[in-house]
Amino acid sequence: MDALKYLAGYSEDIKTQVRTLLAQDRLGTVLLQKYGRLHDVRTDRALYDYVIALKNAFLRNAAPLSKVAFDNQIKVIQHALGLHTAVSRVQGNKLKAKREIRIASLFREVPLEFLKMITVHELAHLKETQHDKAFYQLCTHMEPNYHQYEFDLRLYLTQVDVHGKLLWPGSVAGAGATAPAEKN
Ligand SMILES: [Zn+2]
Repeated sequence: MDALKYLAGYSEDIKTQVRTLLAQDRLGTVLLQKYGRLHDVRTDRALYDYVIALKNAFLRNAAPLSKVAFDNQIKVIQHALGLHTAVSRVQGNKLKAKREIRIASLFREVPLEFLKMITVHELAHLKETQHDKAFYQLCTHMEPNYHQYEFDLRLYLTQVDVHGKLLWPGSVAGAGATAPAEKN
């Protein structure tokens, strides 16, 4: 099994560097030094507000979203970091397409940069269905560091695969102190 499945599209040079960091168990430290603490978007309600704010800033005229939620059923794989769906429902005698954005639950506990990257990715799919040039131009329009964040997210997913979750500052277990009980 390839431990670098999230980096399949990258050069051998890069993969060699990552293998070295993994072998020395330094990849986690590199990521922890580069990114700050966890974001505060923990609930579906907070996620909805976050996604809609970005949509209103950049894609006001795109189709409205009927649902935004964290989803623990999504297996994060190479080409599907999140899930965007157009669900067709019959309303009265009309068939209405409902746009939903579901974000894998692991994004609940990451730095804001990674949540922004996946949000921008899923929002861009409201306009562009393929992962083509127009799609990535829209992504970088919404977040100029999109490509860097995506690469670092793939490094993070690799780290989780090989060495387990990172305890970012701000995580309940990582804080070690008196984090308030979370209400859901
Ligand atoms: Zn996509």
